[in-house]
Amino acid sequence: LAKGNGGSGYKFFDESESHLFYSKLDLENELRKALSQGGLHLEFQPQNSLVSGDIVGTEALVRWYHPVKGRIPPVEFIPVAEESSLILDLDRYVLERGCRQLAQWHREGLDTRLAINISSAQLEKGDLLGLVRDCLGRHTIKAGRLELEITENSLIRNPAEAAATLQGLQELGVNIAIDDFGTGYSSFALLKDLPINKIKLDKTFIDAIETDAKDRKIINTIGELARSLQLQLIAEGVETETQVMRLLECGCYQGQGFLFSRPLAAADYRRLLMESQLII
Ligand code: C2E
Ligand code: MG
Ligand code: MG
Ligand code: MG
Repeated sequence: LAKGNGGSGYKFFDESESHLFYSKLDLENELRKALSQGGLHLEFQPQNSLVSGDIVGTEALVRWYHPVKGRIPPVEFIPVAEESSLILDLDRYVLERGCRQLAQWHREGLDTRLAINISSAQLEKGDLLGLVRDCLGRHTIKAGRLELEITENSLIRNPAEAAATLQGLQELGVNIAIDDFGTGYSSFALLKDLPINKIKLDKTFIDAIETDAKDRKIINTIGELARSLQLQLIAEGVETETQVMRLLECGCYQGQGFLFSRPLAAADYRRLLMESQLII
């Protein structure tokens, strides 16, 4: 009889916890299988100018359709992968597939910059610089067409080493973005000391922007900071026109979100890219 928070304080062994444990192991094994058998694929979401609506970039997001359980969201399987070395394989897979897709679009005359999420483990352990250099070389992609998204938290444990890796990537010409900015152990020192090109404002700020004056002030301040440090700024999770108006007032001129497009399968995204480049 496990009571929730504020219960009697007694908490007996809860059978559901052992289920959780086993299903986690199952999930890990099945994810490993999916990874090696082509069960994972990518979707793509545009990043848009809030001024013109033009597509200014693209983020690759991994997807897993389980043969029995159906669609399993990244928030469920990424943490499982992160608890084992599986996340290293997953990140490598996404980098490889993302670059392959980008090269194909380029061959078709479709130009975009592609952002890929990199886990903290990959930044710390893997030879990320070598990995990226090799991948760009094999697919003949200009480094400036690739962006890597890292979270603040992945910079905490070993800032000096992370900085060195990011420095190397930046020298190569790869763009570095801080994902989910404002939710982790953000520190202004990070922005000052680390080679970073772009800040992605976390969705929680955007959610509150219509109702909360404090959030608007925070975004305003981050906007000023980004400008003075010459960092690009983008808002994630933009869902309404009102949010766009507020963001523009706060000095944020780029956004990514369902208002513009949900993440799309490659074929659908190709169509979106074609349409947007025809308009220009
Ligand atoms: P993220 O990198 O911050 O990605 C943005 C998430 O917000 C995506 O969820 C996207 O589908 C969702 N999103 C975009 N616009 C909107 C919006 O307007 N409204 C709402 N409600 N959601 C929006 P997704 O694809 O479920 O991914 C969740 C997280 O999983 C990502 O957050 C990222 O941290 C991680 N992830 C996804 N793909 C990968 C990957 O290939 N590698 C790694 N290491 N992590 C990944
Ligand atoms: Mg991201
Ligand atoms: Mg994000
Ligand atoms: Mg996020």
